[in-house]
Amino acid sequence: MGCGTSKVLPEPPKDVHLDLVKKVEPYTGYKTDIYKHFIKGDGDAIKSAIPSPPHHTNPHVEQAEPRKNRVAKYRAKFDPRVTAKYDIKALIGRGSFSRVVRVEHKATKQPYAIKLIETKYREGREVCESELCVLRRVRHTNIIQLIEVFETQERVYMVMELATGGELFDRIIAKGSFTERDATRVLQMVLDGVKYLHTLGITHRDLKPENLLYYHPGMDSKIMITDFGLASARKKGDDCLMKTTCGTPEYIAPEILVRKPYTNSVDMWALGVISYILLSGTMPFEDDNRTRLYRQILKGKYSYSGEPWPSVSNLAKDFIDRLLTVDPSDRMTALQALKHPWVVSMAASSSMKNLHRSISQNLLKRASSRCQSTKSAQSTRSSRSTKSNKSRRVRERELRELNLRYQQQYNG
Ligand code: ADP
Ligand code: MG
Repeated sequence: MGCGTSKVLPEPPKDVHLDLVKKVEPYTGYKTDIYKHFIKGDGDAIKSAIPSPPHHTNPHVEQAEPRKNRVAKYRAKFDPRVTAKYDIKALIGRGSFSRVVRVEHKATKQPYAIKLIETKYREGREVCESELCVLRRVRHTNIIQLIEVFETQERVYMVMELATGGELFDRIIAKGSFTERDATRVLQMVLDGVKYLHTLGITHRDLKPENLLYYHPGMDSKIMITDFGLASARKKGDDCLMKTTCGTPEYIAPEILVRKPYTNSVDMWALGVISYILLSGTMPFEDDNRTRLYRQILKGKYSYSGEPWPSVSNLAKDFIDRLLTVDPSDRMTALQALKHPWVVSMAASSSMKNLHRSISQNLLKRASSRCQSTKSAQSTRSSRSTKSNKSRRVRERELRELNLRYQQQYNG
């Protein structure tokens, strides 16, 4: 969520405590985008999915290139073995080390997603290894399924199930209403997937709304966990602790920040952050300054002030509190979270209190303030997907319309 997040990739620990904050290099977008040669357009779908880089940071002259050439170059990034089997349809996502395209299986006409990772760069190789290692082991209804893999010397192409329902927050906005019951239903599905991963000794380490996708646009769609690029997979029964510093700043658990060895419970912290966002449209820990952000996290300092918190049940707040617990040994496990009375009772209840108005207002406020700060500090551009950037614009427009509707209702 938001336009200011960027991943912190695994790096060998050097200094302790908050010093790490200063060492994290923000994603610098187009200036250092290792994929700048990759995206040069593939018809309207792709062009519209790519945010225009600001003029002063984009000296590229790609626009001058004839479109035909650009399309040809883009397709040329795909190994002939891939294009022999799949039609490349459109770019649907763009992450720090990858491009995700929608494809169609030529023989069956089935749609799939292909995630292309450039492996000539060390980071790309590491992300790819983690992702493949996990995806090859898992099969669960709430986890994106790997179908097949093509590897070349410089690239890996992962053919995966295609999720067409969009990211979690786009759905909340599109749905037009959101209740605690809706939140618990979403969380139940995510928790089911996370419990399965943890049982296998897999820690996701990058759970956030951008990595939770709806399978299809229907109201009854399941939600699926994706993006295992930072995941850590241990052998079954191996309780070995992890030490690497990685994740997305707003979702990083305190024990990672102080470089204590950590466990699966870092995912549970991230789920606490996601639950807080789901119920309010705001982030529990937020500051443009990374050092201050990490201080808030280390103290576990967040509040339930402002809308819609007075309307949120105490049971929901208790659920969040038990996840945003600084001491990981006191934090709920996935199994405990699934058994928490809020999840158990609310998912089955008929509570229809609509929290949507405040959530949408908060998301809108956040979107516009974050985007302004992004404009003034281009060097900290986010590593979010193009799809997210595109949907953020749509989301902002929808939020504005929604707020207008609400204001009209409230004013008379
Ligand atoms: P990264 O590791 O670079 O963040 P992701 O795996 O998260 O890459 O993919 C980037 C974006 O692409 C996601 O946020 C999502 O919007 C889109 N995406 C990824 N996998 C799929 C998929 N299987 N189906 C549909 N969209 C996907
Ligand atoms: Mg991602």
